[in-house]
Amino acid sequence: MRYIGRFAPSPTGPLHLGSLVAAVGSYCDARAAGGQWLLRMEDIDPPRMMPGAADTILRQLEAYGFEWDGGVLWQSTRSEAYLAALEQLRAQGDVFWCCCSRAELARLGASAYPGLCRAFTSPRENAALRLRVPDGIQHFRDLVLGKQSENVREVVGDFVLRRRDGLFSYQLAVVVDDAAQGITRVVRGADLLDNTARQIVLQRLLGVPTPEYLHLPLAVHADGSKLSKQTHAGALPLPPAPDLLWLVLRQLGQEVAPGMPPLPAREILAWGIRHWQPQAIPWQPFLANGGG
Ligand SMILES: [Zn+2]
Repeated sequence: MRYIGRFAPSPTGPLHLGSLVAAVGSYCDARAAGGQWLLRMEDIDPPRMMPGAADTILRQLEAYGFEWDGGVLWQSTRSEAYLAALEQLRAQGDVFWCCCSRAELARLGASAYPGLCRAFTSPRENAALRLRVPDGIQHFRDLVLGKQSENVREVVGDFVLRRRDGLFSYQLAVVVDDAAQGITRVVRGADLLDNTARQIVLQRLLGVPTPEYLHLPLAVHADGSKLSKQTHAGALPLPPAPDLLWLVLRQLGQEVAPGMPPLPAREILAWGIRHWQPQAIPWQPFLANGGG
């Protein structure tokens, strides 16, 4: 089967050790299968973006030896495609307009959106657009974590596709872009596992294929919290640190002997591709010793 993979950072800050795990995992998995590896910049949330971060990310990826196929897909240029998907869903009767504020919903105390505004099927002022989530359990098999299932309507409820401020939601953009780029396997951090069922619901309603999913173990701090820009994980050092690449390959379960030489980044990735064993990837999070 043709394999098209991707790496999709959001420019809310520079890449850190946690992002390097996702980059190395998705890259080696795609290249070991003779597949393509595409780069997508998830820059659809201007309030959360950090000026200059996208450029920094591209520089970091190049320095760490990654070679992506084709140009970078910038989500900020994709509004027409997102609007077309929303129009399709509207025509199918799968969306509604919701004016409930966060505070109003919080007062109800329900964990999932309780479908209050489902009757509003034509545009309203100052409203978010929500997906009318069908009842039923989504099943999928993760290539590391095995069988997964979630009733999205019970757990999340009708989720937002376009925010009240006009910004497109992450779920909508990811599903539309994975389909447009022909992604056949999504390899990403396990922090995104609980988005998968929502994305599958959306794929089915839009009539686009569901890719395979492989969720990688997370790098965590000593207290168990995820390494992220929010927890001030350190930016990947430049020039690149060969030790970090070896460390990441080891944390991904690959058989990296102690004392591997400090080769150029590109050669370490080539080693990773040559020796890639996806079945060895562990599911447990690993401690980012001093990496963050
Ligand atoms: Zn509402």
